[in-house]
Amino acid sequence: MGLSLEVVSDHERLRTDAIASDLRALVRGEVRFDEHNRLLYATDASIYQVQPIGVIIPADADDVAAAIKYCNERRVPVLPRGGGTSLAGQCTNRAVVIDLSALCRRVLSIDVQNRSCRAEAGITIDELNRHLIANQTGLFYAPDPATVAQAALGGTIGNNAAGARSIRDGRTSENVLGVDVILASGERTTLESGAGRHDPIALRLASAVADVCRRNADEIRSRFPKTIRRNAGYGLDMILKQLDAGVAVEDLDLSGLICGSEGTLAVVTSAKLRLHPLPLARGLAIVSFVDLFQAIDTVAAIVATRPTAVELIDQVDRRGVVAFLVAYTTHLGPVRAAEAVARFGDRVFEVIRERT
Ligand SMILES: Cc1cc2nc3c(=O)[nH]c(=O)nc-3n(C[C@H](O)[C@H](O)[C@H](O)COP(=O)(O)OP(=O)(O)OC[C@H]3O[C@@H](n4cnc5c(N)ncnc54)[C@H](O)[C@@H]3O)c2cc1C
Repeated sequence: MGLSLEVVSDHERLRTDAIASDLRALVRGEVRFDEHNRLLYATDASIYQVQPIGVIIPADADDVAAAIKYCNERRVPVLPRGGGTSLAGQCTNRAVVIDLSALCRRVLSIDVQNRSCRAEAGITIDELNRHLIANQTGLFYAPDPATVAQAALGGTIGNNAAGARSIRDGRTSENVLGVDVILASGERTTLESGAGRHDPIALRLASAVADVCRRNADEIRSRFPKTIRRNAGYGLDMILKQLDAGVAVEDLDLSGLICGSEGTLAVVTSAKLRLHPLPLARGLAIVSFVDLFQAIDTVAAIVATRPTAVELIDQVDRRGVVAFLVAYTTHLGPVRAAEAVARFGDRVFEVIRERT
């Protein structure tokens, strides 16, 4: 299916030209409102196609703030974009697209001792991890959606991405320690634990969110799904959990709320991230079944062996064989990967034998 060219009224064309010209005067980065670029940004990895009003490639966070403030004052919608690998049309809209993936992609700092780093929103997860390896930190950033080569940090925060290994290392929300954001007003703040103690904007937001959580506490407790890998609306459950644990409003960490908010609450320009030690060995066990239901029945037993990932591959061959790929990593010592596979693989196969 091809993209069709739009028919726009003269009035709309003039308005769009005026927006482009105003934005060019405001930002140092690029402003692309031509047909070619609007077609390029009309899709993400979903089936949806919507031509944006135009595209901005911000040079830095100042550009993002200026563009958002301008658009907000004129009621022009904005849409932040990273790698554009969203599957449900999150990156398509009749809006000014702010593409942070081109120029806002630096690693800002690394704190090996405290296992954390700060990076700009446009860097891909792969690039960030390559940087951590090149600097011999012995650490890595864990969330690993299948698109790590294209997915940008800001986009993974927007979608609260979780990869195959999230059963051990958590989703993005469990690996983000703080976010530097720009609000619709163009105001800038950092959302992290304790932010409300020194930043009036962060305190204002924390008080409002705490109020929403307290007023709806029963609903949040009863209706939020209890599964680990889910992203159901704004993560108010994460904030309520902090309030239940006695965290004061000024200490509330709102960064989890930004995870999964798909750019609707704020635009992330950079984030402070939790890092994990690189595993000393990796292993993979392949466990095959002739029946899909038998395979699925075995998941709990496989997860009990504490793998880092469990993936189901459907219909491996024409007889309908299905397979689980069970990945393990170990920090226990300098075990070679092959030994790890054999050791853990045996455990998995024992469990399977018991059940068959
Ligand atoms: C083949 C394939 C496999 C995938 N596998 C997985 C998987 O294993 N696990 C998984 O979780 N997902 C998966 N995805 C979905 C997608 O790749 C991830 O959600 C990824 O994290 C999105 O990153 P992105 O940079 O492409 O985000 P984008 O698509 O660019 O943006 C995602 C959302 O975040 C918002 N956003 C972007 N940048 C910012 C910002 N700076 N501040 C605030 N909001 C922002 C956008 O507006 C949008 O709503 C897969 C997608 C594909 C196509």
